[in-house]
Amino acid sequence: MPQPVAVLNKKETQSSRIIHHVKGVSEGPAVVFFGGIHGNEPAGVTALEKVLIDLDPKVIKGEIYGIYGNLKALSTNKRFIEKDLNRIWTEDRVKALPTKQRLTAEEEEQVELFDIIQGILKTNNNPVYFIDFHTTSSPTLPFITINDALINRYFSMHFPVPIVLGIEEYLQGPLLSYLNKQGYVSLGFEAGQHTDADSVTNCEAFIYLSIVIAGLSAMENFIRYPNFYRTLRNQARGLREVFEVMYKYEIKPFEEFKMNPGFVSFQKIKLGDELALSNDTIIKSPLTARLFMPLYQKQGEDGFFIIRTIPVFFLKLSALLRKIRADQLLTLLPGISWFDRKRGILRANLKVTRFMAKSIFHLLGYRNKQEDKTHLLLYNRERVARKYLYEKSGWFHA
Ligand SMILES: [Zn+2]
Repeated sequence: MPQPVAVLNKKETQSSRIIHHVKGVSEGPAVVFFGGIHGNEPAGVTALEKVLIDLDPKVIKGEIYGIYGNLKALSTNKRFIEKDLNRIWTEDRVKALPTKQRLTAEEEEQVELFDIIQGILKTNNNPVYFIDFHTTSSPTLPFITINDALINRYFSMHFPVPIVLGIEEYLQGPLLSYLNKQGYVSLGFEAGQHTDADSVTNCEAFIYLSIVIAGLSAMENFIRYPNFYRTLRNQARGLREVFEVMYKYEIKPFEEFKMNPGFVSFQKIKLGDELALSNDTIIKSPLTARLFMPLYQKQGEDGFFIIRTIPVFFLKLSALLRKIRADQLLTLLPGISWFDRKRGILRANLKVTRFMAKSIFHLLGYRNKQEDKTHLLLYNRERVARKYLYEKSGWFHA
């Protein structure tokens, strides 16, 4: 029976978006890699094209997908065409897509990505992992970024690179936050500087480690596995701490922002250090901590971030508090109530939260986002995490 044109076109565009799909010999978890969500960051794409095609399905239990992010931007080596594809994945925007009269260049990409993701999730009752490859404009050690859910923490801690938590509080609509809100393990891997050859090598190593840690294959199946592990560990200079984002410098429209030269991610900085120029005014560091992702390209609104190490004691304490669901006690306080208990969203009066340290909410797994003049909505990742999917995985108990 002939297929309607629309359906045919959809299938064709979907297949051109898939770098490669490895279907293993038996059923198992699915790992979904994205490369080039930012079009000027081709390292992940290059690595996926190289590694996935060479993988022998006979040693794979489960399925692996490599997916192109922003195809139009990749072809022109630009971060994006009209609007950053990694800033439009809010629930409201995704919901509005089917009824929009005109789609922007990036919304066209988003519709196709959404269909592919839904297709994968629909046919899968196994654990699913989403891994998004990026690079940065400044030199950096390779690192992982995650939304702070315990499933993400436990999985990430098996990789020999630093982990940065909590960036979602400062970004609107990244793809990984959207997927994480659906309850799946989702992590970003920042492999290095955009054009550095090491970034490709780091992505290659990360692909192999992901496949093994997620349980799709045994490390013995890959002769070079110890090399891949060593590569990442050496590139990260042995740094395996967990960091938290403390501050973001946001570039305003029409502001002329220029980072002072020579800064690198993870570099230690002191209060008052001169970091950048904004319309010829010197910007000084508001904290003694570490600089993170200083901006050395024209496109982008995040000037730089500041991060700080989370002590191991606090990591353990917050895991414990979340397991016993200590957040229920918060609603006993005046001015804090459930906005949506099932989805783990608290509504808090700003007058009350002003007196509570942000770090208490963080400890319990909450990140704040939308706010009107009087109230704040706090989102918890633990209550939506599909722990049942992952509990039996080898990595689960870190
Ligand atoms: Zn990126």
